[in-house]
Amino acid sequence: MPKYVYRCTDPGCVQEFEISRPVPARNEPAECTACGMPATRVYSVPRINAVWMNSEEHEENRRAIRELDDNAAEDARRYAESWANQ
Ligand SMILES: [Zn+2]
Repeated sequence: MPKYVYRCTDPGCVQEFEISRPVPARNEPAECTACGMPATRVYSVPRINAVWMNSEEHEENRRAIRELDDNAAEDARRYAESWANQ
């Protein structure tokens, strides 16, 4: 699964962390690894690590990569919005 970056919504924490998730679940809130508060996704280009690419789940990987391509435009738009709102 691709990794996505999330940032804690607690202003006293703002922990950033990466978790692996299925592509369709990428925009759902995550739980902060430091304090357990909700964390929202930091929009960036998802990274696919080498271990995942070399796994035996080749067909699943190919399907996931196609989903990443399909969702890349939406992610790019949200990424631009997240910067515009800062
Ligand atoms: Zn936190």
